[in-house]
Amino acid sequence: MPYVVAEPCINCKYTDCVEVCPVDCFYEGPNFLAIQPDECIDCNACVPVCPVEAIYPEEELPEKWEHYTQWNEYLANQWREMGYNITEKSPPMEDAEEWEDREKSEEDILTWDV
Ligand code: SF4
Ligand code: SF4
Repeated sequence: MPYVVAEPCINCKYTDCVEVCPVDCFYEGPNFLAIQPDECIDCNACVPVCPVEAIYPEEELPEKWEHYTQWNEYLANQWREMGYNITEKSPPMEDAEEWEDREKSEEDILTWDV
């Protein structure tokens, strides 16, 4: 059961999670991070370091975010192919604090131009 990045990560991208992942299975989009499910070894290291509680084991995902399982697989595979593996902490989005409490949805997730 892989771990899944859910909605609170959108437009925050604090990236504390990537620093602790022992297998470097995070992939970066313009305003969201996704975990590649076949690479994740379920170690739980990323969960306590995410400041916005965006990461869950798949079986503990809140129901409203269950579809993020598919989104993580789809986006991580796409971003992996494009070379967007992220392994080092980078600055958060400029308006991350403002977005933390804002209503958002998967429609707000951006992807790279092909
Ligand atoms: S630490 Fe949390 S908010 Fe930041 S990039 Fe990772 S999952 Fe997203
Ligand atoms: S659970 Fe472990 S292996 Fe999976 S994404 Fe988090 S830190 Fe990486």
